[in-house]
Amino acid sequence: MPSQLTARPSDIPLKNLYNLIEPITVPSNRTRFTNWGQTFTCTPSAIFEPENEFQCELVLELARREGKTLRMAGVGHSPSDLACTDELMLRTTKLNRVLEVNTEKRYVVAQGGITLNDLHVQLSKNNLAMTNLGSISEQTLAGVVTTATHGSGVGYGVISTNVMALSLLLADGSRVVCSRNENSDLFLASICGLGITGIILSVQLEVEPAFRLKETQTSLPFDDVVKNLDDYAHSAEHVRFWWFPSRNIVRFSSANRTAEPKNPAGSWWWHSFLGHHVVQMLLFNARYFLPLNTWVANFACWLVDGDSVGVDDSHKIFNVDCRYPQHTTEWAVPYKNTQACLRELRNYFEKEFQDPHGIRPHFPVEIRFSAADDIWLSPSYGQLTCWIGIVQYKPYGFNVPYKKFFRNFEDIVARHQGRPHWAKAHRLGPDSLRKLYPRFDDFMQVIHKVDPNGVFRNQYIQRHVMGKPVDPRIFKQHP
Ligand SMILES: Cc1cc2nc3c(=O)[nH]c(=O)nc-3n(C[C@H](O)[C@H](O)[C@H](O)COP(=O)(O)OP(=O)(O)OC[C@H]3O[C@@H](n4cnc5c(N)ncnc54)[C@H](O)[C@@H]3O)c2cc1C
Repeated sequence: MPSQLTARPSDIPLKNLYNLIEPITVPSNRTRFTNWGQTFTCTPSAIFEPENEFQCELVLELARREGKTLRMAGVGHSPSDLACTDELMLRTTKLNRVLEVNTEKRYVVAQGGITLNDLHVQLSKNNLAMTNLGSISEQTLAGVVTTATHGSGVGYGVISTNVMALSLLLADGSRVVCSRNENSDLFLASICGLGITGIILSVQLEVEPAFRLKETQTSLPFDDVVKNLDDYAHSAEHVRFWWFPSRNIVRFSSANRTAEPKNPAGSWWWHSFLGHHVVQMLLFNARYFLPLNTWVANFACWLVDGDSVGVDDSHKIFNVDCRYPQHTTEWAVPYKNTQACLRELRNYFEKEFQDPHGIRPHFPVEIRFSAADDIWLSPSYGQLTCWIGIVQYKPYGFNVPYKKFFRNFEDIVARHQGRPHWAKAHRLGPDSLRKLYPRFDDFMQVIHKVDPNGVFRNQYIQRHVMGKPVDPRIFKQHP
């Protein structure tokens, strides 16, 4: 008879399966899961933290035997309920090893649960680095890949475009490798697959020799930026804008690879104390005195004023301080519609500012770019893309009004054919998504084939992808 450790999970008697899973089961008093933004929270019926691939298979087998769904979660940085479930949750944080580094061919293979921060450490030991990054590096590699997390640069795709191959554990318990040459449909569905094609066990990622970036920041009038958008967007490898609508000023960041020595910009007093802590205290007070919000926005805009130049390791320039828990939404607008969309947003903001009871938005509005790609559900599928994102902070975790503001914003970006960031809350269902994504039905075909019983489908997926009437506020922190 095969031993429990070599047997196929489906051959293991249920009692033994429970015994094998017990050491990786999170105690029931720690089964509350809250996302980083403190906007969604859930209590799964059980949470597992496997340390190897076989334990992932065991958890999947348990889900099958108990007839439950299984949701993977990284570190919960998705601002929506994308990772939430009230059934079984598999947290990937202990699947965090680098499995192979190939400096010659410039790739790394790492387990899906490694955080980008940990990956940077391993890469830099080998004089390598990721090509592009978003605003933070706290996320897991699989979390980044399944949501098509993006950085900025008209010549740079979402991070998933750097994925060369994936190793997946499918719903039927089989392991499969996919890439552009092998199981290519599964690959193109999985590198922005929202966690529903299978468990990402490992990722082969293309990287490049370690590099420093030289970043220049300056403040510009909004009208100038919009009028000359094309020049600004193409003026450097990595360009991003932070727009302060209350003053119609845009902070323009442009960064290029450089051989210059490190020379970081900024000071602790200015950025951490004033820019972070004092601003949070002011935002907290603005919850009770609405006009203060505009004053805080102007103060934050003034804090970053003036020109600055900094040179540092790539990830330190790519990453920024995203401040506090927050409501956020971000949409990918076709680049050709960007100017019209930004002008409509500016008109909307002006109307709100003129209304004494109007919305006083937090700041900044973040504007970034991604090259077109061919990933079926990537918001940059088939088109050069401009990402436009807004935030309403929750100072010290306290809530602020955001719903009307977000609804109005979403209506505007949707009018310009915007596609929502998958990790962030939105209101679209399959009918709208099908119109925005030419390969939506191909994606559906793949998930019906690899997971016919919907083991990996949580409430977010049922609502947005399957079109089931699932309450969008089911996991809301403040329903
Ligand atoms: C402060 C902040 C800044 C951010 N900045 C950016 C940015 O600059 N650009 C951008 O595009 N996004 C950004 N995001 C969004 C973020 O990159 C994504 O939400 C990312 O998915 C978070 O990774 P995670 O490890 O927390 O995954 P989670 O939020 O825990 O999960 C996300 C998804 O990944 C799936 N998943 C996780 N692990 C696996 C696995 N092993 N196999 C299969 N599926 C899996 C989950 O099921 C879920 O669907 C930001 C978020 C925050 C909070």
